[in-house]
Amino acid sequence: MDTGKSGKILIVEDEKKISDIVAMYLKKEGFGVTTADTGEKAMNLLKEPFDLIVLDLMLPDFPGEELCKIIRETSDVPIVMLTAKSGEEDRIHGLGIGADDYVVKPFSPRELVARVKAHLRRRGKLARRALSFNEGLLTLDTENHEVKKKGVPVVLTHTEFRILTILAERPGRIVSRLHLINMVQGYDFEGYDRTIDAHIKNLRHKIEDDQRNPVFIKTVYGVGYKFTGRSDED
Ligand code: CA
Repeated sequence: MDTGKSGKILIVEDEKKISDIVAMYLKKEGFGVTTADTGEKAMNLLKEPFDLIVLDLMLPDFPGEELCKIIRETSDVPIVMLTAKSGEEDRIHGLGIGADDYVVKPFSPRELVARVKAHLRRRGKLARRALSFNEGLLTLDTENHEVKKKGVPVVLTHTEFRILTILAERPGRIVSRLHLINMVQGYDFEGYDRTIDAHIKNLRHKIEDDQRNPVFIKTVYGVGYKFTGRSDED
């Protein structure tokens, strides 16, 4: 296995042509690349940690969506999906099950590489720095577990903090309830959607000025939640 300086990437794709070209472009950028042409092989390789996974939706043994769900049960690794399906519903579904991004075939390898780098950059930055939204109205220090509203510390439970972090690290993306349950509690958790809804309600009570018109956490009906704060870095 090649351990690249820029990070380790797993490509799960059964079309050799695509897998080869994506691997070539990523290696050129200094990434360590490992490839798997079936879901089963990917599962075996995933016993080792990766920095990012490029995941094809149509695999010979089982659907990429399934693999994505399984990965999300235990890991927050960025996942960029490759797919031939371009419909908006598929896109939402893909993101709803925990993919961070979606690239529709045929795609430009350069664009894929740019997105891979953007995801890794964002993760690296997020791990080190405090996040600030809406001109400092809400700040989130993921390392010190500190949240402030208008500069005043807000006391959150561990679960509330995890939910807020998961959402704030994916601004503008829909995160499904199931994904939140998996990420927060792990797959042993036999919770219900309403458990997450209750946590969100408490979170809103603590960070929003008007819970009926939230500016940070919006409900996407029938799907999940979306963080809608404006990053002060952009
Ligand atoms: Ca395929």
